[in-house]
Amino acid sequence: MRKKPGVFTWLLWIALAGCCVAVAALAPGTIDAYNAYTVERDATPTPTALTQSVLMVTLDPNNTPTPTPLILSLGTTGDAVTRLQTKLKELGFYTNAVDGQYGQGTAAAVKLFQSQMGLTADGLAGTATLSALYATTAQTYIPTPTPSPTPSLLSKGAQGGSVSALQERLKALGYYTGAVDGDYGAATQEAVRLFQSQNGLEVDGVSGSVTLAAVYASSAPPVTITPTPDPATLPLLVNRDNPLAESYKPANLVVLRNVLPASLVYVKGSDIQGDREAVAALQTMLLAAKDDGITSWQVSAGYRSYQYQQELFDQQVATFVSQGKSRADALSATRLTVADPGTSEHQTGLAFDITVADTIFKGTKQQLWLDKNCWDYGFIVRYQEDKEKITGYVAECWHIRYVGISHSTVIRDHDWCLEEYINAMKQ
Ligand SMILES: [Zn+2]
Repeated sequence: MRKKPGVFTWLLWIALAGCCVAVAALAPGTIDAYNAYTVERDATPTPTALTQSVLMVTLDPNNTPTPTPLILSLGTTGDAVTRLQTKLKELGFYTNAVDGQYGQGTAAAVKLFQSQMGLTADGLAGTATLSALYATTAQTYIPTPTPSPTPSLLSKGAQGGSVSALQERLKALGYYTGAVDGDYGAATQEAVRLFQSQNGLEVDGVSGSVTLAAVYASSAPPVTITPTPDPATLPLLVNRDNPLAESYKPANLVVLRNVLPASLVYVKGSDIQGDREAVAALQTMLLAAKDDGITSWQVSAGYRSYQYQQELFDQQVATFVSQGKSRADALSATRLTVADPGTSEHQTGLAFDITVADTIFKGTKQQLWLDKNCWDYGFIVRYQEDKEKITGYVAECWHIRYVGISHSTVIRDHDWCLEEYINAMKQ
């Protein structure tokens, strides 16, 4: 028994008939094909059931169609793209014009954002990307340096692209303020020293593999700005141009032998004194040296009064005169090594001559340790070889001056002498 043809079946017939009539008009030989189709159609079950089920699914009010997710991609235009570009620009990922056109530049910016946020970097702004972008946790762009074939060591005098890359990187981190010129000069060296000092590396101004790895690490921290010291609290500057009065005597002098244990340091004179705070810093420093296995220290000088300095000076002049020098020659020869009264740092109570008994100090492991570490305890090596023209004194690797850690570390990081530091701070 045949089922009565439904509406759909009638419609199908009409459509097929119309179609095949048109084909037949073009090619009479296809009539047979039409007849064959009709026979086949009658043999197949009517598709009524299928049609009804499709309609049911479509019309089911409980099954509302999911809205297509809004994906912005290449070619998209409009306000949504403008908003996207504005936000990407605000975060630093996008630098082109905000024009509402999702072009290659926008796609590249989206990719950058996705990759920094740990999303699939496909350049398509879909739901996940858009929610991450408009979230309060959206990160600002952190440039990753393009890895360039970098030599394993760059130092003063080096030139070229890898120096430019280094300068650019140090500049981005705030350590370098000079021009990116590919020239590893004094300013670059200073920036490297600053980076090394703030990041616990050996401070030598040379960019070896360890320093370069730290500079280019994604975790490399930006520079810590050292607060400019108040000029009123700058260290006391004593030199030929800035003498102390004959009456100047530090207020808090202590006798070193009374406070420093003999096991830590040998104090050469029972009357050697020093400023209380400076002596405390000296003790802290020598304890740290001991931890590093560096012992056998001797303190051979501390506070000297104006009168004592006068005696030292007169004695030296007398010695030269007795050796046959004229008084004028004896005076100038004396001034090379003995300070005029009032111009010795020892009168401040903040300076010490520190040595090793019965040994030439220069080159000893104690001297090398002192030269490297005293800065961390508030001391500076006051008279350096490369600063003789500024300080007016030949280098004295044994003469250390207490200035306090806030000053000593800055002086070290800039490779300054005290005169240069005070000049810089007063500007
Ligand atoms: Zn001295």
